[in-house]
Amino acid sequence: RKIVIVGGVAGGATAAARLRRLSERYRIVLFERGEHISFANCGLPYYVGGVIRDRDRLLLQTASGMSKRFRIDLRMLTEVTAIHRERKTVSARDLRTGEEYEESYDTLILSPGARPILPPIEGMDQAKAAFALRTIPDADRIKAYVEREKPTSAAIIGGGFVGLEMAENLVERGVKASLVEMADQVLPPLDREMAAMVHAYLKECGIRLHLEDGLKALEKGGRRLVLHSGETLEADMIILAVGVQPENELARKAGLELGVRGAIRVNPRLQTSDPDIYAIGDAVEVKDYVHGFPTHVPLAWPANRQGRLVADIIHGFDVYYAGTLGTAIVKLFGLTVAATGNNEKTLKRLGIPHEAVHVFPSSHAAYYPNASPLALKLIFDRETGRIFGAQAVGEEGVDKRIDVIATAIKGGLTVRDLPDLELAYAPPFSSAKDPVNIAGYAAT
Ligand code: FAD
Repeated sequence: RKIVIVGGVAGGATAAARLRRLSERYRIVLFERGEHISFANCGLPYYVGGVIRDRDRLLLQTASGMSKRFRIDLRMLTEVTAIHRERKTVSARDLRTGEEYEESYDTLILSPGARPILPPIEGMDQAKAAFALRTIPDADRIKAYVEREKPTSAAIIGGGFVGLEMAENLVERGVKASLVEMADQVLPPLDREMAAMVHAYLKECGIRLHLEDGLKALEKGGRRLVLHSGETLEADMIILAVGVQPENELARKAGLELGVRGAIRVNPRLQTSDPDIYAIGDAVEVKDYVHGFPTHVPLAWPANRQGRLVADIIHGFDVYYAGTLGTAIVKLFGLTVAATGNNEKTLKRLGIPHEAVHVFPSSHAAYYPNASPLALKLIFDRETGRIFGAQAVGEEGVDKRIDVIATAIKGGLTVRDLPDLELAYAPPFSSAKDPVNIAGYAAT
């Protein structure tokens, strides 16, 4: 059986490796448009910031290592340009030579990811230092610019995870950062009152926030930004991080069904509307794990999980993808912010009755040095106790609490079970009543 994969990073490389582990008999052909496979996209902001010094550490696998180890027919720098469903082939173009050819498949897996949205902004074509970040070459360009031109100011457009990570990393390099965000808050997975703590913290760190404002035009070769409000900003460089859009062109041209934000629609077995074509990762629509509505969650865990599952499914195992919780986390200097499941904004929009409690326990025993307050919000159904989601902001222990609650949601635990979770305790780590226990008490 011949399996062709489009995209060789998080989802595609995982699927390829798992398929090979499952069987020596598959013929696996993997197309990757870029020059790297299986690289650490999530590490890119830290490479720009100089936290990750060694570029090679971003390369989780090299093309030759991967093709040898897993006996994969790797076609690097080759773009798949069309799918011909009727004859079960794809068209591919070698970007080095321009050569075009068709490759047949029995089963096709699409893992083309999502690309940064580049809104049409007047004057953008004149901007010499406006960057988006997705690939290693993108990170190389930003890093080279910072090192060569020594910018003193940067404007980051978009207050999502990538925008905030870039703001932090540029500030760490001595660049003054302003952040422009269209919504009334940063970090969309958070509710407003939790985001407010992040706003206060970002200001303390010297980041100028422009909320409910957007970039309208660029002047002076991109050095002056004109915002919708009429305000102007001067910046030596611009990072565009207003979100991503699924790479759906192949699927759309092939007539596959699309869903939310143009993401490729798949069933729980990750099959598109053509049963011989599977799709995974940032390119696909997923089911919200808690309430089942269709959504688009471009994160690394779903891409990796789906990469493994799609291989298992193709191999004949009776498994399926149950949906995405959207568990996410970000470090902002000394602060950690994380969330899982549904937030109140979403539940209100969907008209789903819910309740929320806020608790502010210590990250570990208050009498042990360096304890810090942790803001934890738990959202749940009053009647059944079902946990809908949680958000946390604090300097320490945020990751652990959100991960415990994410696990509780997947395990079907209710808020009434939370006080009963017996979690690791000694004064440097927690309290005899862990913040998760306390949230459970507050909710019941
Ligand atoms: P990708 O990893 O984007 O891979 C898709 C590949 O397909 C690309 O290399 C592309 O070149 C190739 N491709 C596309 N079309 C074609 C074609 N027609 N022919 C051939 N090849 C093609 N997620 C987290 O959970 N936590 C984080 O901290 C985090 N940080 C991030 C930081 C940055 C800067 C970025 C950009 C992303 C981050 N993410 C993070 C998101 C995470 O990287 C993605 O969710 C994940 O990589 C998605 O995997 P994927 O396989 O769907 O797509």
